[in-house]
This record gives sequence, structure tokens and C-alpha cells, in this order.
Amino acid sequence: MTVLNSGISWCTGTLNLTVGCTKVSAACDNCYAETLVNRGILGDRDFSKLRFHPGRIKDLRRFAPARNAEGHLEPKMVFVNSLSDFWHEDIPEQFIQDALDAFEAHPLVIVQILTKRPVRMRKIAQARYSNKGVPPHIWLGVSAEDNRVKGRLNILRRLKDQVGDFTAFVSVEPIVAPCDELDYTGIDWVLTGGESGPHARDMRFEHLEQANEKALDANIALHMKQYGHPRNNPVVQQLARRGLGVQQAFKMAIAEGLELAPHEKGGATYKGRVIQEKPTHFHRLKAELNTERIK
Ligand code: SF4
Repeated sequence: MTVLNSGISWCTGTLNLTVGCTKVSAACDNCYAETLVNRGILGDRDFSKLRFHPGRIKDLRRFAPARNAEGHLEPKMVFVNSLSDFWHEDIPEQFIQDALDAFEAHPLVIVQILTKRPVRMRKIAQARYSNKGVPPHIWLGVSAEDNRVKGRLNILRRLKDQVGDFTAFVSVEPIVAPCDELDYTGIDWVLTGGESGPHARDMRFEHLEQANEKALDANIALHMKQYGHPRNNPVVQQLARRGLGVQQAFKMAIAEGLELAPHEKGGATYKGRVIQEKPTHFHRLKAELNTERIK
């Protein structure tokens, strides 16, 4: 499924060249893609069975740069395989190589590939890009939801060592356990947030702080997506101590201007501000697009 304006605040939209996946770590326990797919609303009912949609690659054209409200051209960011894993072991390598060919043919479309299978990512990307490097508009990321999977970051770093610099990102989501051992060395963009949905697990604020503060201290672009549920939001927690219910406290936080991102699940105000930054390549590409326009 190709979706512009997906509701995921760190991308412009999604492009699912495959649908379906299998679980690999704690972050997968309440996989939102599984819920969506098994409900049947997307036409693919069995999440555990991979389905291939190579024809959707033509939809990359829909992600061409467009003017923002100020009239400036802005690149779009497409999250590839939000309902699957691009580097899943059951996706034939030729399918992956064909998709990468297509991404490379669209250098003005930022492609975000996020995985919990970094071993296969590193193997294929190292072979493909060791001579020419990863194109700047292809951003490669890993999910590292907590300390238990911190090793995924080492694999991403190792790839950088092998092929040279590229935009590397980490999704520290959903935070359900300590994150203090995550090492962001070599990482260009950090995404954080709590779990949403009917069975969402709680996120402790101290764990969110561990994930956020390390990025802020190191001047790494940080995008805090959401608390997931208002009960994780410290402002809501404070108001709820006055005897209000969580939803009532959330509404009051919005009304009193204490929660500045009511559109995000559970809000996204962190220590008085909304932090939703983008990595350097986004700004560089945007500047290039607008310089071209002036010429
Ligand atoms: S890797 Fe992603 S898509 Fe696959 S089961 Fe886990 S959370 Fe869901």
C-alpha cells in the first residue's frame, strides 16, 4: 500500500513493496502492521505470509518534491515497508536489488529503510555499495527499542565503516525497557516514542529521557514522535494527581497549552517543547532544490 500523509510524523508517506512479516524481538509484540493486516482492511489478511507488490515501485513518482506553505520546495520522505521488513529473510535478494535500483533512479525522493534485521541489510548493502557508497537519499536505519538489542547499532556502524558515510538512523520505539546502554556513535537521526494501540505497554519517563538526552547531548537530530498513551505523558500524570482521569487530564493539558502536540498519540511535548528534527541530508537537499529554483 502506498500512502501519502501516513500519520507517522517522521515520514511523508509509506510505500509497501511487500506486506507481511515475522516477529524478532520485544518491539514486535504488539506489531501495529500485524493488527492492520489481519483486520483485512488492506486486502492482505494473513500477516505471517509475505506478499509481494513490485508494481507499487512506480508510486515513487508521487513522492517528488513539492512546495510547502512558504512556497519553498521540500523533499518528501518515504518510509519503505512500514508493514513488513525490507531485509526480511524470505524476500528474494533480486527483489531487493531491483527495489534499490528504482530508489537510485529517484535521487530527489528520500527513502527511509528501517529494519530489525540488520545482518542481512549489512551483507547486501556492503556488497552493493562498497565501491560507490550508499546514495545520500537512501537512509538506512535499525530499530533498537532498548538495551537488549543495542547490538543492532554496532552492525549499522560497521556498515558505515565498510561503505563510507550515509544517513544512518535509529528508531528507539516502542520504549518499554531501559535505553541507557544505546550507543549513538555514528548515528545521524534518532526517533523515539512510546507504544500506542489497545494493548500498548507503558513507557517510563526515565527510559524516554535516557533515549532523548543522549541524542540532545551529542547534537544528533532527534524526532520524538509520541508518548503513545496519555498516561505516559508527565504533564498528564501531574494533572491526574489532582484527581482527574487520564483522558480528562490530557484534554486539560492541551487546553492549558502544556501539551503542544495534541495530534500525536498521547502528545509529544518533552520538557516544554516539541522536538521533531530532521538529519542534515534533508536540509542539504532542500537547500539544493531551492537554489536550483532560483537559477
Ligand atoms: S519487524 Fe516490524 S513489521 Fe515485522 S513483526 Fe516486527 S514490528 Fe512487525
